Amino acid sequence: MERVGVLNVQGAVREHADHLRRVGSEVVLVKHPEDLQAIDGLVIPGGESTTIGKLIRKYGLYDGIRERIEGGMPVFGTCAGLILLAKKIEGSDTTHLGVMDTVVDRNSFGRQRESFEADLPISEIDGDAFPCVFIRAPHIVSTGADVSVLATYGEKIVAARQGNRLVTAFHPELSDDLRMHAYFLDMVRKTSQPV
Ligand code: GLN
Repeated sequence: MERVGVLNVQGAVREHADHLRRVGSEVVLVKHPEDLQAIDGLVIPGGESTTIGKLIRKYGLYDGIRERIEGGMPVFGTCAGLILLAKKIEGSDTTHLGVMDTVVDRNSFGRQRESFEADLPISEIDGDAFPCVFIRAPHIVSTGADVSVLATYGEKIVAARQGNRLVTAFHPELSDDLRMHAYFLDMVRKTSQPV
């Protein structure tokens, strides 16, 4: 059975772990560098990107996470996770993991819309629109040529994929819909058991 790690330094860790188990994955909570050896994929949850960025350095996880992602391990970043994976954060000199060819805007939905829900169609996810929960959400401002846009809210890109790197500006772990986690687990399966 595939083992998917959930970065366990801050944020919605338990909810991601529950969703992953419900779609049939084994889950490893990742807090120490050695945990990275035991996983076939990694979820980087929402929370606060500056804090998570500091904590992954403090816990000695930064280099190991980057190396595994560069080596092809599937990664799924939600909300703050999307910011951590981006090559550039607009208006800031800080870059965290910088492995995805995206420019992102933090807190782009403004204070008056701290959180909201919207049903959005997501390409690659069959069936009804997906219930997207946004909490002080970022969005993707621009993408490189290798990045596929999977969903938009108005003009704003809120889900994208580049090879084995998947991101959403919303929190799929906070709705009862398991399809995004099933989609990610499928990416992990295809990578760890190539046909
Ligand atoms: N806007 C937050 C940040 O910059 C992310 C919010 C979230 O993950 N819910 O980190």
